[in-house]
Amino acid sequence: MEGYNKAVLYVEDNPLNMALMHHIFKKNLSSVQLLKAETAEQGLEIAAREQPDLIILDIGLPGLNGYEAMEYLQSNEDTRHIPVLATSAFAQASDMERASSAGFADYITKPFQVKTITDSVKKLLGG
Ligand SMILES: [Mg+2]
Repeated sequence: MEGYNKAVLYVEDNPLNMALMHHIFKKNLSSVQLLKAETAEQGLEIAAREQPDLIILDIGLPGLNGYEAMEYLQSNEDTRHIPVLATSAFAQASDMERASSAGFADYITKPFQVKTITDSVKKLLGG
């Protein structure tokens, strides 16, 4: 879309979290287009087609979960170069380790802190 420098795809089944992310992008990341998917399956299709600069992937999704979606993203040469930021309500050290070994660029726990999301997205988009 015209006027945007970059695009981020957010895969999230919870409408409240999606609305919050929409608000964060409007307020703090207004030059970045936010693409939205409600399921991993839909997200994989959009990622391959739209080639976003970053994917924010919820771990708890209906159908394929975030870890399974990550395996598909990494096994597809059209999407494996895209950094992926995981979000989850699971906040144990073992969850962070699992996310890190799955190849996620970052892991953010819910409920979201606006600044944490904003800073991580900016960093992963390269400023
Ligand atoms: Mg979820």
